[in-house]
Amino acid sequence: MSGPVAPVTPPPCWQCCAPFTFDAWLDALVDWWAAVNVVRLACPACSAVEDVALETDAFERGYVYAAGTAHFAGMERHSLPGLAIRGCATHLEVTLGGRSRSLPRRDPPKTVTDPAAAEAKPVSSRSGRSTRRRRA
Ligand SMILES: [Zn+2]
Repeated sequence: MSGPVAPVTPPPCWQCCAPFTFDAWLDALVDWWAAVNVVRLACPACSAVEDVALETDAFERGYVYAAGTAHFAGMERHSLPGLAIRGCATHLEVTLGGRSRSLPRRDPPKTVTDPAAAEAKPVSSRSGRSTRRRRA
């Protein structure tokens, strides 16, 4: 290999196409949704918010959808050399380009229309002990 390697920069904003530097990208990270391990990224130019999943040296653009619980669907994978993350109980530590930021953990409330939760309610028709029935 010869010659200088072109520096990899984060992809531009999906909404307004504003370019990101490493610094700007790191500063645009908002918070960390620990349950699905997704970070919100808010464009400083147009305020568009997107969901990204961070990993070592790369990240994935995508979206969060609900199917019982929340899931992340990755759409576009981007290489971002130097990216490192470390999740803690209260925050996510993100390192990029020699800088680190600590993102607050965000845990949105669970959806109220959870069928499992509704089913789990005990039916108090009897005072007996056979409220839970089992069939083989
Ligand atoms: Zn934008």
